[in-house]
Amino acid sequence: MTVLEFGKQPSPGLPRMIRDMHLAYGTTELKQCGDCVHFQRIRVGNTRCAKCELARQSRSRATDWRAHWRACGKFETGRADTRDVAT
Ligand code: SF4
Repeated sequence: MTVLEFGKQPSPGLPRMIRDMHLAYGTTELKQCGDCVHFQRIRVGNTRCAKCELARQSRSRATDWRAHWRACGKFETGRADTRDVAT
């Protein structure tokens, strides 16, 4: 895990949600969210999305997570099953 320097802007160019995770927990080098056990793949009818189970979630696309984002310090290797959610 890499701890960020105080006052240093974490991960410029990424959305605030993942930057907040980097700020709170640091980053994990050479790992991506899609390979983390906390990365939840969700199927709602014919639509698919992903969320981080350790971050704030809602049904809004605004809290969707991306597999290619750099992993935070809470990264744990693994893959959660895809979860079906009723519409
Ligand atoms: S590495 Fe895992 S815990 Fe951290 S933001 Fe990505 S999915 Fe969430």
